[in-house]
Amino acid sequence: MSLQNPVFIPGPTNMPESLRRACDMPTLDHRSSLFKDILHPARDGVRRVLKSANAEVFIFPSTGTGGWEAAITNTLSPGDTVLASRNGMFSLKWIDMCQRHGLTVEIVETPWGEGIPADRFEEILTADTTHRIKAVLATHNETATGVRSDIAAVRRAMDAARHPALLFVDGVSSIGSMPFEFDGWKIDVAITGSQKGFMLPAGLGIAAFSAKAMAAVETAGLARTYFDIRDMAKGYAANGYPYTPAVGLLNGLKVASEMLLAEGLETVFARHTRIATGVRAAVAAWGMELCAARPALYSDTVSAIRTPEGFDAARIVSHASTRYGVAFGAGLGQVAGKVFRIGHLGSLTDVMMLSGLATVEMVMADLDLPIRLGSGVAAAQDVYRQSAASLALAAE
Ligand SMILES: *Cc1c(COP(=O)(O)O)cnc(C)c1O
Repeated sequence: MSLQNPVFIPGPTNMPESLRRACDMPTLDHRSSLFKDILHPARDGVRRVLKSANAEVFIFPSTGTGGWEAAITNTLSPGDTVLASRNGMFSLKWIDMCQRHGLTVEIVETPWGEGIPADRFEEILTADTTHRIKAVLATHNETATGVRSDIAAVRRAMDAARHPALLFVDGVSSIGSMPFEFDGWKIDVAITGSQKGFMLPAGLGIAAFSAKAMAAVETAGLARTYFDIRDMAKGYAANGYPYTPAVGLLNGLKVASEMLLAEGLETVFARHTRIATGVRAAVAAWGMELCAARPALYSDTVSAIRTPEGFDAARIVSHASTRYGVAFGAGLGQVAGKVFRIGHLGSLTDVMMLSGLATVEMVMADLDLPIRLGSGVAAAQDVYRQSAASLALAAE
């Protein structure tokens, strides 16, 4: 792998130079008055990226996985039931975490490549007249399969069933790159990390709580110490932390939010849609298919691409790394060896993406897959030229 090349893995993502600099700070006493000018703007910035007026944003020295743990341990009690669909590696691992915490998970098995079946959720929630189910877990963007689920539909299912369960959304590979509506979807806990849409190094686990989730904290019986948001809230009220914060990363998060908001969230989302459309055009030109079953499910942050039967997709990832110094994502779990993944979230331009597609073509040609060099790149170029023309027109 070469440090000159961009990465095309779905996290950690490429870091803009300005964010690398923002994280690179001299030691700062987090008990001094300087710290509050990093802490509060970082929390405010995240809240605005989430499109929320009042969510309580908690930022742990951790990763997205820690955010999962913060969500469940702060709101639930041993033996509580939660509802989740299992349709990829990330939903699978979150379910596993719940089980290891002594929760009962009502699992809706869903084919990998499909999204959350909101209609099935509605049936289950409607049948749950005693409100045994305390929370609904939804992985917005299944990074393993490149599937975006419809969170608005999950919320509609909960409302149609008149069910009071909390709604937890894993937005680790969507927040900051694809439309995400904390208030609009009435989310109770949203989770992400620093190293995906926020374009930072790994090291922060972010969990935003609604007022309803904050109320559940008082009765939750699961054990928690490090992730106890009551300690964190006390710290924030005094401009500090219950332990040593990752100050440089928090400063990076403050600047990353400013960057996203300055570009404009809708512009950021449109950029990811455009880049992803180019990738999908390339995949079609190669005569290949996505793991995601239907266009409505296509993720704008990661594409999982099926390789021909009998071909080990992991060879693409290892060859790209050793021969060309470029990182792509391997298949995980059930789809290991069957797909490779192109990550296109975070800090990425059309031109960077073209270099990734050109690399994939060289790799596939080297490995004797039936690929015509330039076919996918040309298809993506057509997409990017057209959108560049409309962008130029808009600017006139
Ligand atoms: C990356 C990812 C995670 C795990 O986050 P870590 O920061 O690696 O702990 C969880 N969920 C999704 C959807 C992800 O893409």
